[in-house]
Amino acid sequence: MNPDPNCVFCKIAAGQIPAKKVHEDDELVVFHDIHPWAPVHVLVVPKQHVATLSDTGAEHAPMLGRMLALAPRLMSQLGVTNGFRTVINTGRDGGQEVYHLHMHVFGGPRPWSKG
Ligand code: AMP
Ligand code: ZN
Repeated sequence: MNPDPNCVFCKIAAGQIPAKKVHEDDELVVFHDIHPWAPVHVLVVPKQHVATLSDTGAEHAPMLGRMLALAPRLMSQLGVTNGFRTVINTGRDGGQEVYHLHMHVFGGPRPWSKG
């Protein structure tokens, strides 16, 4: 999976540091954000280390599709019934803090602390 030894999400994917996981398959892991902005706030993370969405190409399209396609199923499993928001922060001006590709999924009753 080409892990980066300094990457927090690679360590979570490898089970080396704890996270509240809600889904795991061969390619993706999903866990609760440590600083949630909404009643439900999870991160959909590929196990493969890709730093940002800017580093993806056509070869990543199936993985990106599976990340997006997982969101409605997850939200339903987590009891979110009234819609949700998906966000991928990319690069410095995109507000990215962790340089391992991830998609935020937010749901639950508003108001939310951000956004
Ligand atoms: P960003 O890179 O700005 O899209 O956001 C990174 C997100 O990762 C933030 O919302 C953090 O709260 C979250 N985060 C950072 N470290 C951890 C961790 N160890 N477990 C769960 N979430 C984390
Ligand atoms: Zn990584």
